[in-house]
Amino acid sequence: MLPATYRKVIARRFSKDFRKAAQIVEVPLNPPGPNEVLIRVHYAGVNATDVNISAGLYTPGAEPPIDLGAEVLGEIVAVGENVTDLEPEMIVVTNSLGGYAEYYTCRARYAIPVAESSPQVLSLVLSGTTASIGLEVAEMRSGETVLVTAAAGGTGQFAVQLAKLAGNHVIGTCGSDDKIELLKRLGCDHVINYKTEDVGAVLSATYPRGLDVVYESVGRTMFDTCVDHLAIRGRLLVIGFISEYLDAPEVVNSARIYGKLLGKSASIRSMFLLHYIRQVPEHLRRLLALYDTGKLRAAVDRTRFQGVEQVVDAVEHLHSGRSTGKVVVQMWDGNA
Ligand code: NAP
Repeated sequence: MLPATYRKVIARRFSKDFRKAAQIVEVPLNPPGPNEVLIRVHYAGVNATDVNISAGLYTPGAEPPIDLGAEVLGEIVAVGENVTDLEPEMIVVTNSLGGYAEYYTCRARYAIPVAESSPQVLSLVLSGTTASIGLEVAEMRSGETVLVTAAAGGTGQFAVQLAKLAGNHVIGTCGSDDKIELLKRLGCDHVINYKTEDVGAVLSATYPRGLDVVYESVGRTMFDTCVDHLAIRGRLLVIGFISEYLDAPEVVNSARIYGKLLGKSASIRSMFLLHYIRQVPEHLRRLLALYDTGKLRAAVDRTRFQGVEQVVDAVEHLHSGRSTGKVVVQMWDGNA
């Protein structure tokens, strides 16, 4: 028996301050329309970019309110007309906007069935596929030197492991010593704590040939240092720039970057998952196969967040820099 109403988190006004933007509202629970499925959300994934979504950057031209969130794992509780390949009780994942909610309606073609309901599987959906597709865009091969920034985070952990599985030497950066142990367990050959070590000095001393691939998601001086240390034909993939999400972009006054790139035939690329959404199912299948056979681990942050009431705390926890692995909010514990 489904409830008549459910709660979700919306942005009642646009702000990068997620707490100021967010509001919990209770709305009617409608049956799914044609070609749609209704999902009871078990877990919602927390992402660095939630503050960009709450600022309206993902919905140009739209006025608030908008639904917040970006990915869910849950159980189908109803299917609409014309839906033939999905049925109630199936566990599915999906990553489109919204999802910080107790129930979520989406087009059936965006719901991908998975075997297990767990925060680990959820972490593969957006964070894992970003790493998998991103490293493909960076044309990562084997026998290369690969550096991953924010390596112990939601997506960084997968970039580390996929780079290692492909037979590369992997360097990870992180901001606390307690993340070093995890990164070593995930396969990092060298971990740099950027808060206690000078990343540029370590790279100059240890990797004078430079970096073949950089999976870069921090920005500011970390980005600059990585560009300076690209190898000949090195590729730096811009995945994000979390250090600038909550502030205005830093204005820098320096020589144009082509001077640094051409001398090394190096390149800067970027990958925004929404532009690669058609590739997600194929990459997710590959990640699930690696996860199911124990070749890929999925680290989930230990802080428990429960229900729509704790979504704001979870987003702020991710932005505190203290989280390790994927931050997840549990929306359903099976007892409600
Ligand atoms: P996350 O890595 O789980 O969490 C953020 C981590 O970033 C922190 O734990 C912190 O770890 C590190 N960090 C470095 N400088 C920071 C700063 N100034 N403030 C806060 N944290 C800082 O988050 P995520 O959701 O997986 O996202 C990571 C990056 O990937 C973000 O830039 C995000 O936008 C990007 N991303 C992009 C896509 C895409 O489609 N392009 C998809 C998913 C994620 P340490 O200090 O230990 O390094």
